[in-house]
Amino acid sequence: MIPYGRQDITQADIDAVVNVLQSDFLTQGPLVPRFEQKVAQHVGAKHALAVNSATSALHIACMALGLGQGDWLWTTPVTFVASANCGLYCGAQVDFVDIDPRTYNLCPQALAAKLAVAEREGRLPKVLVAVHLCGQPCDMQAINELAQRYGFKVIEDASHAIGGKYQREFIGNGRYSDITVFSFHPVKIITTAEGGMALTNDDTLAERMALLRSHGVTREPSLMTHAAHGPWYYQQVELGFNYRMTELQAALGVSQLTRLDDYVARRHALAQRYDELLSNLPVSLPWQHPDSYSGFHLYVIRLQLDQITMTHREVFEALRDKGIGVNVHYIPVHTQPYYQQMGFKDGDFPQSEEYYREAISLPLFQTLTHQQQDQVVATLEEVLLA
Ligand SMILES: *Cc1c(COP(=O)(O)O)cnc(C)c1O
Repeated sequence: MIPYGRQDITQADIDAVVNVLQSDFLTQGPLVPRFEQKVAQHVGAKHALAVNSATSALHIACMALGLGQGDWLWTTPVTFVASANCGLYCGAQVDFVDIDPRTYNLCPQALAAKLAVAEREGRLPKVLVAVHLCGQPCDMQAINELAQRYGFKVIEDASHAIGGKYQREFIGNGRYSDITVFSFHPVKIITTAEGGMALTNDDTLAERMALLRSHGVTREPSLMTHAAHGPWYYQQVELGFNYRMTELQAALGVSQLTRLDDYVARRHALAQRYDELLSNLPVSLPWQHPDSYSGFHLYVIRLQLDQITMTHREVFEALRDKGIGVNVHYIPVHTQPYYQQMGFKDGDFPQSEEYYREAISLPLFQTLTHQQQDQVVATLEEVLLA
């Protein structure tokens, strides 16, 4: 089976991890700060906080922004559930904004329209999570203008997008948002096994997220309520968590990061090759906005169901049967039972649901060979034109 995504682990990665195992620190050593500094430098952010997953990063990002009971978090339905769940963790309510049918990202026009209504009804969101689906950045400038006008905060869920660019600058530099989150799960662009990171240019947000990552405990005198009892002293000043990344993970991350730009370039070359090889098939190819340089975590095609005799499910199953490890990203979050219990219904976000009825993620990862890619294309052709 050719998987839809997989990690690339080199001997240098293995050596880096083994070195940590033989060192004094398996956690809370020098490599986590080094990884943070390298990612921050690479993307052009002031602060970076490494954590044990992007889900944890989203949680502490929402908390640092003050999201709580009585507040609203808005995001796109076409994302992994974590982009929405982080609002629920904070006791806030979640709502969604439908997607742009060209980019499959949250639609700024739909957002503007929903904000106008929400303002009249007195239920404006406190936080918007903008998800860069497949690695293609959202229209961040338009989102930022709306954030200024309506006074909400913006988190970029860039789990798919490290190494990508918006308006020719790296995603993560925070030009149009408060906090950006990356994921280092093995299917993503670079990996630390499990792992994530939150980036910000705001000193206060960085300080709060650092506290929340580690039990709300500090050894920093300026954050304490009174003078230290002695050199052993620490204070818990907030209710935090243990969301720390280990040194093993950070070592892997530092090593992987040296290949990030090559990885993204390779993903672009493969995506372009798919574009050419699939151009005559009854599928819609992933349209790219000229302002964006995608991280290309995913290559999603949409079946033109009126041009073929098979259903979406039949095409998917036929590809899997023939060894092509396709996937679907994502089942719209508002159609999940947990969200339907809150009152969301099928039909609430029609563009997202239509996308879901047609979308298939083809294999795309840095070590995918042209021969494997040709096999994917030939199999798809065989299935669609059968
Ligand atoms: C993978 C992913 C997450 C969660 O990442 P973890 O590191 O696995 O917690 C969140 N949002 C999106 C869009 C993702 O793809």
